[in-house]
Amino acid sequence: MSEHNSEQRRITLFTNEEIYLPIWENDSAPLEVQLGCSWHRCKFCDFANDEYHVFSLPEIEAKAQMLQPIAEGKKRLFLLGENPFSMPTDRLEWIFEIVNRWLPGIEEVAMYSRFDDVLRKTDAEIGGLKERGLVELHIGLESGSQAVLDLMDKGITVIEALRACERLHRIGIDFSFTMMAGAGGRALSTEHARESAMFLNAAQPKRVWVTGLLLWESTPLARMVEAGQFSPCSFEQRLREMRDMCAALELRDCTFVDSTVLGQYTIQGHFPEQKDAIVSTMEALLNAQALNL
Ligand code: SF4
Repeated sequence: MSEHNSEQRRITLFTNEEIYLPIWENDSAPLEVQLGCSWHRCKFCDFANDEYHVFSLPEIEAKAQMLQPIAEGKKRLFLLGENPFSMPTDRLEWIFEIVNRWLPGIEEVAMYSRFDDVLRKTDAEIGGLKERGLVELHIGLESGSQAVLDLMDKGITVIEALRACERLHRIGIDFSFTMMAGAGGRALSTEHARESAMFLNAAQPKRVWVTGLLLWESTPLARMVEAGQFSPCSFEQRLREMRDMCAALELRDCTFVDSTVLGQYTIQGHFPEQKDAIVSTMEALLNAQALNL
């Protein structure tokens, strides 16, 4: 057996049993290109424990070949990894070449990114990737409050984040956010709701996916809780935050999902036309909670 073949035998389609996609990408073909995150410092983040690793181009090519049966009939691809957009542009261009060669039915490509990954690329670089099929970036916003971002060591300023959004709008790349209800704990709950609404109104994302803050063992945040430095919000406080945030949103064309409402419900709708329904549903759940129904 040649060395090339034995090398290829060790390559698997996915490294871990579970793969993580934004809910919007559940129907996309997932191509693994990276493990871990280039920043790996956010205090709440479980992925921050994973070693950062970028697969070699031959490995990615082998994975693309393995993906063919799964990608059959699919038009959209999601590049797996916590922030593949951090890769140098020429490397991403090679990956697009590989996708084109082995998965020719794919017309659209999306991936996770940080705001600073966007800012490190020029307009021409991002425009070139758009021409190759890049249509959307999924970005972990978590909060639009600078105090919350700093508390969680997110490594970005609100001003920088808005600059990245303005560039993506100008170039014509869609972007969607993940956010965390309760990200600021009890101490920053009011700021989190109010300033996140202000941020979203300025950024005008295509989609917002809200999840609740999870306390993972072995994260710095878990140690902060043990030390009494962070007091997590209750499910009800998180819902109040999201109700206040949604009531203040002026989004022109945005799909909103909160998939961890009271730990058991999902609320989904489109802004602006379903804003009132979203807010009144949250209101009704809060009232039912208050009455212990
Ligand atoms: S940028 Fe995202 S993946 Fe990276 S450490 Fe922060 S939350 Fe985790």
